Order: sequence, then C-alpha cells, then structure tokens
Amino acid sequence: MGKEIPAFCGGTPVRDTKLFYGHQYIDEADIQAVVDVLKSDYLTCGPKIGELEEKLCQVTGAKYAVACSNGTAALHMACMAAGIGAGDEVITTPITFAASANCALYCGARPVFADIDEETYNIDPQSVAEKVNGKTKAVVAVDFTGQSVELDELLAVCREKGLVFIEDGAHVIGTKYKGRANGSIADMTTFSFHPVKTVTGGEGGAVLTNNEEYYKKLLLYRSHGITRDTGLLEHEPEGGWYYEQIDLGYNYRITDMQAALIISQLDKLQMFSRRRKEIVARYNEAFSKLPQIAVQKEIPESDTTRHLYILRLVPEKLKIGRKEFFDALAAENICCNVHYIPTYYFPYYQKLGFAKGICPKAEKLYEEMLSIPLYYAMTDKDVEDVIRAVTKIVEYYSLPG
Ligand SMILES: *Cc1c(COP(=O)(O)O)cnc(C)c1O
Repeated sequence: MGKEIPAFCGGTPVRDTKLFYGHQYIDEADIQAVVDVLKSDYLTCGPKIGELEEKLCQVTGAKYAVACSNGTAALHMACMAAGIGAGDEVITTPITFAASANCALYCGARPVFADIDEETYNIDPQSVAEKVNGKTKAVVAVDFTGQSVELDELLAVCREKGLVFIEDGAHVIGTKYKGRANGSIADMTTFSFHPVKTVTGGEGGAVLTNNEEYYKKLLLYRSHGITRDTGLLEHEPEGGWYYEQIDLGYNYRITDMQAALIISQLDKLQMFSRRRKEIVARYNEAFSKLPQIAVQKEIPESDTTRHLYILRLVPEKLKIGRKEFFDALAAENICCNVHYIPTYYFPYYQKLGFAKGICPKAEKLYEEMLSIPLYYAMTDKDVEDVIRAVTKIVEYYSLPG
C-alpha cells in the first residue's frame, strides 16, 4: 500500500497505511440503537425524533430543537423561519461548505461575503458590519473548525441593525462560548450529523432556538407546511384524519434510525470532545515549534471541540506551496483535504456575478491551508505519524532565513 506513490522527500513513508482527515466512530451501543429501531413500529416520525430533540436541548441548553434530514436542510429551514425572501441579502463567510451561502439562494436572497479574521479564520464582525445595508436580513456565521465565532460581537451587530443571527454550527457541537454551549445563544443554530462531523447519524441535522415563533415555523417547514395543530388550522377539523397545509414546506424529516444513532453518539460527546482536544493540544505543541507553520489562534471565550485541524503554511519560509505540501503528505500516507475553497470561486457563483478579490484574507488562507487528520479514533501513534510527516516535509523544503 502506498508504494506506487513516490515519496517526495525520499526515504520510506512515515507510515505504510493511509490516514484520512476524518472518520466516524461507531461502537456496539450505536449499532444496537439502530437495530432496536428497526425492530420497532416506527422507522420515521416515531418516538426517537422527540427523544433526540430533548437530548439536543439538554446538551446545548437551547429551549427548542427541530431535528431534520441534514445540516443543509437545517440552514434552509432557518432561513425560511427568519423570513428571508427575494431581494434580501444574507451575510456569510466564504471559508465554509457551500451550504452556508446556498441556503440564502434557496430563498431567493443574495449571499454577501464578509472577510475573515486572519488569525482565527472565523468571520470578522467588523467586516460583517461593513457589509450591512438596507437589504440585509440575516447573518449566517460559521464556527469554522469548531471554534466559536465571536458571538457577542456578532449579536451586537445583528441587534443594532435588526438582523436575524443564524449560527451555522455544523462544526461546533461540544464547544462552549463563555461557558455556555453553542446552540443556545444565536437566534437559531444549525447542526449537521454528517459522518465527518463530531457526532453522526449517517445524515442528519437540527435547528436549535430559544424563540417559540421560529420553533413553530421550523416544525411546519420540516413537513410540507402541514399541521394538525388545532391552534393553527384555518377550518374546523372534519374528523380524526384531518390536517391542513397552511404554508409551503418540504420533506426534511429525519428517520428514527438516524435519530437513535445520533442519541447514542451524543452519549459519547464528552469522550469525543476530550480526545479531540488532546490531539489538537499535541498538534499545537508540535507545530508551534515550526516557523514554517502558522497555528490557528484560539480565542479565550471559546472552549473548543475541534472538528477540523488546519495546517497553515508560511509561504515565505517554504520552497513549496500548498499543492506540493498536500502531495508530499499523501506520499507519506497522510491523506489530507482542504476546507474550504472560497464559496464564490465556484463556477455557479462566478456566473452569479461574484468576482474574485472580495475577501482577500479568506483567499490568502485558502492558498496556504490544508486539513490534517483529526478524529476520535486516532491512536497516539497516528498523531505522532502526522507530526513526523509534517516535520519531515517542512525540514526538507524549508527556505533558509
Ligand atoms: C457539513 C456542513 C454543512 C452541511 O451539512 P450536511 O449535513 O452535509 O447537509 C453546512 N455547513 C458547514 C459549515 C458544514 O461543514
């Protein structure tokens, strides 16, 4: 394995089996939880959905949770609940998965990209404030890599300008901001339970909120805009079968199998969190000694459960760029990824009229970064292999001075 790839630095690869940047961890309890649902009466719309929602409220301290099919659906529902529509603008970061901006497009609104802070890589509240105009309706802020965005600063901008604050918390589960779990602070927070995220259901998502109005809308949008709630019906029920569609929603429901898996995974959140923190601490310790590598700044307000570990190269100190570094790591059997290509670089966004150059700090970060392996099941040896590989490449390609 791995022998067909030439080792860029020469010598034998640091390891002979491949390590990937992320991987789920499934134990016997997870498997049993899914099997139990399969043997039960409900595969969807059953008791596991409410159980998951209750658990998410417990974990985050949010008042309401609405579980749904995936993180993208969660963002779409949150934008709908915020009342975003044609002609509106929604401010977000370009250093994110495409869904953070696509959710505005789904509603007929236009995404507007604010630049990042060059040290934390999170959206810069100052840049957000500068992008606000009369059309701005909401901010979708991403807790990039799991480090909380500057919630107080962003909330202050949103409150001052009358904007809805949506936190795309796809990376953030397990993180606390000033001692409170992310998920209970923004107007709405969305989660994703995709397998590379800290907690998984295969697919899955949720919206968390303390606002009852939003909660009721989210319930409607999850299931076609259909309700049986007598408080919402426009007509007298004709009988026990009666329901009405009172708005246009979607089928964004999650199955009970997925909900059961996520519940079981949430039982391990502290364990996941502890291990991720250990790995990040070890990486930070090793990489902060290398002048060729810049370590992501940690803000003291965020007690971070990291979803991704970003290796940022210092181009002035290396003979090679990110692409060669990525290939050199692959030759050592460390298989990385890049999170993310700035959203507005994509052809679809270019055709919508987004020019390169809007967010210079985000664009510079993109040129210099890659995501190295970070997941619960990594062994100490795996972690040391990554460090050895990075160190080997850095030393081989370092520029003098
Ligand atoms: C994963 C992710 C999403 C989308 O979640 P899905 O569950 O894959 O739809 C949205 N935003 C960010 C930042 C993500 O990482």
